[in-house]
Amino acid sequence: MAQKIKIGLDLHGVVDARPELFRELARALIANGHEVHIITGGRKENETALLKSFDIPYTHFFSITDHHESLGTPIEWDENGDPHLDTYLWDKTKAEYCLEHGIDLHVDDSDIYHYFFKTPYTRFYTKDSYRNKKIHLETLSDHAKKIRSATKAAKK
Ligand SMILES: [Mg+2]
Repeated sequence: MAQKIKIGLDLHGVVDARPELFRELARALIANGHEVHIITGGRKENETALLKSFDIPYTHFFSITDHHESLGTPIEWDENGDPHLDTYLWDKTKAEYCLEHGIDLHVDDSDIYHYFFKTPYTRFYTKDSYRNKKIHLETLSDHAKKIRSATKAAKK
């Protein structure tokens, strides 16, 4: 094998938005000796159950929450059981993992993370994804909102 490829995949908004696509991609990579790193926010115990339900193969798993729990970072849990910790620490953690593990390309649906990445990062867009619409498109910057309205106006 010429080069072992290490691909990072976000779970929410990426793998769970197109499970069929990422299942086949992960299978092909692993079958050829490459690494698939699931790099996500939630705890391993919850996220691996979700991955299993989608039948997604992977070679490595990383959780921002578990990582910060192990470091002793203060974490607050809301009524839904979702973790909240310092936003800056949260947003830079995936980038640090990818740098430390030499991830060749990480695929994620969060715009903010790319500010921290020193290794290759790509933004995954699925406009029919509820999560994408809710979190990323409805919280657009003013500049992005202007572009979006101009695009809509041009289509009329
Ligand atoms: Mg995501």
